[in-house]
Amino acid sequence: MATIEINYHNIKQNAINLKKEAQDIIAVVKNNAYNLGLKECVKIFSEAGINYFATTKEEECKIIRETLGEEVSIFLLNPTRDFELVRKYNIEVNIANLDYLKENIDELRDLTLQLEFAGSMRRAGAKTLDEVLEIINFCKENNLNLKGFWSHFSFADEFDGFYEKEKELVLKVSEEALKIHDFEVVHLQNSASFLRDGAFEKTTHQRLGIILYGALPYDVKQYSVALPNLVIKNPITVYGEIVNIVDLKEGECIGYSNAYIAEKDKKVGVVNIGYGDGILRDRLRGNTCIINNKEKDIYATMMSHLVVEISEKEKIGDKVFLYDDIQQLHNYVKYFGPNSVQLAALNYNSLNVKKIY
Ligand SMILES: *Cc1c(COP(=O)(O)O)cnc(C)c1O
Repeated sequence: MATIEINYHNIKQNAINLKKEAQDIIAVVKNNAYNLGLKECVKIFSEAGINYFATTKEEECKIIRETLGEEVSIFLLNPTRDFELVRKYNIEVNIANLDYLKENIDELRDLTLQLEFAGSMRRAGAKTLDEVLEIINFCKENNLNLKGFWSHFSFADEFDGFYEKEKELVLKVSEEALKIHDFEVVHLQNSASFLRDGAFEKTTHQRLGIILYGALPYDVKQYSVALPNLVIKNPITVYGEIVNIVDLKEGECIGYSNAYIAEKDKKVGVVNIGYGDGILRDRLRGNTCIINNKEKDIYATMMSHLVVEISEKEKIGDKVFLYDDIQQLHNYVKYFGPNSVQLAALNYNSLNVKKIY
């Protein structure tokens, strides 16, 4: 059966290494900790000394509270209307905008609030500096508990100049906000921003996701980044095995619709893993796998099979690696975009899951 090994030991080591470089970390654990297991990940992050967590769903906030107890801080990134739940589990609430604050003032009085500047992400939060200042003043007038200021970059993965512009605006708005209110926490940076710039001055935390899970947001060799020597270890190993070896004559095809046509007489390997296991087709098509430590071409991609190049050496039962320490998630960002897309797609219903601690 095709197998995924999740290496929690490496994920923990990443958290420990990142903690040394960051001011402090808010671990983003949305979508079941990037599909690597919410309970396991929050436990190991907590063992690594992280005690602040953020996610987008009320239900996940509840699970974190139940798993780690009262000592940790939990911040719900999305604006909520489930005030009963956030009160019961002591969850910090994001202010959607000034209207949200005014409409829900009675519910929000005894809750802990954070103010988002929408920046160029614009998913939620104050859209302008004026609105930021108005919200701060409204909180003061009404004695609300305004703990945090934050923003989220939409261009931090890209090196085309937009990020520098949005950064300038976010830092300016942040500076003005900090002049009129003493925020206990200020967090502006995701993994991509932290890796390229290091920790900003005048913030208290970095709000990290993908890099904690062992994948870099871009190819660090290609760009000059502030933390080029950060050691980030691979979190997942995914492999199938050769289930059949087929002799093809020159011109014979294999797979659906002539997926591959032999250019000469040759043997090919049929492997028991495919996009049905959640491996992205853009990772597979036209790319390679690792068999017996050698890079081999992937000839054809099906739901639960691959056809791959083999040599005389390969035999039935040999492992065929798609992600491992040689071919890591971040080596494929140019094929499928953010690494979180691949992590989110992994299909645990069809993979044999081995957990390494
Ligand atoms: C997902 C997310 C993060 C983490 O982003 P990474 O690029 O995975 O580090 C941080 N903040 C918010 C608001 C997010 O939604």
